[in-house]
Formats: sequence, structure tokens, C-alpha cells
Amino acid sequence: MTQYDLMIVGAGLSGATIARLAAEDGVSVLVIDKREHLAGNVYDEIDSQTGIRISRYGAHLFHTNDTEVWNFVNRFGKWTPWTHKVIAECDNTLVPVPVNIITVNTLLNTHIRDETEMAEWLKTETTKYETPQNSEEIALNRVGPRLYEKLFKNYTVKQWAKEPSELEPSVLERIPVRPNFDERYFSDRYQALPTDGYTSIVKNMLDHPKITVQLNTSWNPEMEKCWSELVFTGPIDVYFKDSGLPILEYRSINFEWSRLKNSGYYQPNSVVNYPSSLIDSTRCVEYKHFLNQKSDWTIIAKETTTDNGEPYYPVPTKTNRDLYTKYSELAKEAKGVHFVGRLASYKYFNMDQAVRNAIDYYNTYMKERSLIINNEIPHIEIEETEQDLEQELLPPTTQTETQSPTPPPPPPSSSPTPPPPSSSPPLPLSDSATVIALE
Ligand code: UDP
Repeated sequence: MTQYDLMIVGAGLSGATIARLAAEDGVSVLVIDKREHLAGNVYDEIDSQTGIRISRYGAHLFHTNDTEVWNFVNRFGKWTPWTHKVIAECDNTLVPVPVNIITVNTLLNTHIRDETEMAEWLKTETTKYETPQNSEEIALNRVGPRLYEKLFKNYTVKQWAKEPSELEPSVLERIPVRPNFDERYFSDRYQALPTDGYTSIVKNMLDHPKITVQLNTSWNPEMEKCWSELVFTGPIDVYFKDSGLPILEYRSINFEWSRLKNSGYYQPNSVVNYPSSLIDSTRCVEYKHFLNQKSDWTIIAKETTTDNGEPYYPVPTKTNRDLYTKYSELAKEAKGVHFVGRLASYKYFNMDQAVRNAIDYYNTYMKERSLIINNEIPHIEIEETEQDLEQELLPPTTQTETQSPTPPPPPPSSSPTPPPPSSSPPLPLSDSATVIALE
């Protein structure tokens, strides 16, 4: 029985992009997600106690030079320009990251005044590698040994549980050097945050008459097949868990949340990095800074990277790359199954890259079939009232409380019963922190 042309596992940015493109080509799409909310790791919500928007899986800063991607995401909500900055706590002081003239002068007691002097300084300070082979070499190439030790080495070891020399150059290649006083974290043309949050953007992407969303539903190979093609955006080694191949490595993040009674701020910037090996956390994010939110409270999250928990980051080492190549061979053989997104492609995509990759993947491998389906192959439509759809796409909190009386198909016959709809999960904030005033 084929009820949907396409099933998508994962309601994050990659899954939602493909769902939308396919639906607009007339394809009927079922999107499932094991979580009780949309938007995958970009999920955000307003904390009811403080009114502050927080991101449950870590801050996400949108930036891109890709005009097509920028135009695409703008179709689904308003965006407010936001120039992201990061500072690092180092040697008992705060300095800008990426490294700029201020960083060098502050940490190394130099007196560089302009770009020419900075270029001279970099020439004498850095170690040149023609073709850097790993993240240590790229950092030494860019900032030299002293700043590498102070700002990058230990942070990277905490973040990845690997020496930078074990990681592909792409990791530390993400952090440029600014030969001037520019304090921006990114230099892309478009830098913004969604005015009403990422969840709202993803919800609007999925709000289409050809798309059905079913939350609290884990993918399971035994599911009754009610689709003709599958897009899998979860970890590729989970899909091929019975292949006998070793599992891939991912890093996860532990968040230590605190609500603080504070009408000002806890720290001077949204993100403060901790490059020191003496502190376990990699950074502290204070959400109130983003879009200058107002509250008598503030919320901070200290992030510590770990091997256990939800997979966030693929770990780009040679061993993992080689293992992923084996999985991608299996993927080629899996007819009618597409692997898309950060976890399925095992790539450290930024958000714009995830959207770009999903658009390109769809146009290259799926669009032609969508057009054929739409024009030539008849398929069974699921009858769905507008009201049903609205209920499916209500924000997570409301949705779990107002279950559609005729739930959308197709609970797989042999799959485990999906977990019962939970009420809105409590925000993982430590209540004991609520009384600390930092003003
Ligand atoms: N990094 C570092 N020190 C810093 C910031 C970043 O060593 O102060 C390294 C670290 O290895 C990190 C990588 O640069 O994983 C990329 O940083 P980015 O801020 O892009 O990481 P994300 O925000 O994706 O976690």
C-alpha cells in the first residue's frame, strides 16, 4: 500500500527543505520525527518563566553568502539582522575570536596598529605548511604556535576529545584570522536570526497541504511501507545498524542551564568561549543577548561536549572518513533511499550548507521523479481536512495537548508503539539557580 510518494525521517532543516520542495512539485510527503517537536537541533522555544527565547540544543547563528538559500529561508518567516560576535576568556581577560589585532595585542602584549603591521606580525609568527594536513597545521599556519596554544589547542581537545593533529583541517579552517579590528564571528553577506525563532521557520516550511507531519515517531526498518521513496536524515550508521560495520563517532553536548534573576546580563556577550584546559565547559551562552531580549531574568547554558547523548557533530578524522566511505557504498545500493543532512552525510554542515545541500540533492536526484509522479503516475491521496493539518502543525506544546481525533497515518504495524504524547517537556533549568542575582 503506497499512501505517500515520499517519507522523510527527521523534521530538521534538511528534512523540511526536501519536504517543501517535493510538496511544491506535487509529491505527497510524510515527515516523521522521534522527538515531540519540529525543527531538529535548531528547535527553539520561549521559556515561560522568563519570556526569553532559548535553543534547547545550542545557539544557532544563521549566516550565508548564498543568495538562493537566503531567499529560500526568507519565504518562511521574517529575519532580523544579527551580527554574531564571540569572545574568549583567556589569561584572565576577554578577547575577540576570531583572532584580530585586539586579540594579538591583548594576549601577546604587542602594539600592532594597522593591517600592514598585522601582516608583518603574522609573517614572522606563523609556521608555514604548504598544504596543511590537519587542524593543528592549519592553526599554526594561520596564527602561529602561541595563539594556537592559548585559544585553539585545549578548546579543540575538549570539544572533540582528539588532538587537533588528528582532525581534518576543515575543523580549525572554520575560524579565520582577521588582519584588522573586525570583531565579527562570520563575514558572510547575510547574517540574521529568525525574528520568531527557527521552530517557526521550520513549521512554516512544513505547512503545506501535501505534507503530513507525525511527531513522537521513531523510524524503524520494520515499519509498514506506505511510501515509495525514503529520505533519511538521521545518522547513516543507525540506518545500516545491521550491516556489521563499526559505528561512526559523534560528539554530543551537555547543557548546564541556569535561570538567573537578573535584569541585566550575566556576561558581556552572547557567547563566551573557555579555551582553558582548567575549565571543563567549552563555552557559555547567554540567550537574552540574541536580538536584545528584555527580561527581569537571564538564562545561561554552559556547554560541555561529550561522547554520549544525541549526536550533534560528526567527528572528522581519517578513520571516521574511511568508515563513512564504506557506509556511503551501502547507501548507493539502497534503492529508493536518500541520505541527506549533517548526520546522514557525516558532514559538519552549517545551517545554510544544510539547506543548500538539501536543495541540490533534491534537484539532482529527486526532482525529475517528482515531476513524473505528478504528471503521470497516479497515487492514492490521503484525505485530510484543513483542520487536521492545522493540528499537526501546531507548535509542539499545543500539538501534544490537542491530538487530532483522526491521527495521520500510518502507524507501522510492526513498529513499537510510539511513546505516548507527552505534555510539554520541562525546560532543563536548574531551579536552584533561580535565586542567584548577579547584578
Ligand atoms: N575553536 C577553538 N577555539 C575557539 C573557538 C573554536 O579551538 O575559541 C575550534 C574548535 O575546534 C571548534 C572549531 O574551532 O570545534 C569550530 O568552531 P565553531 O565555533 O565553528 O564551532 P560550533 O559553533 O560549530 O560548535
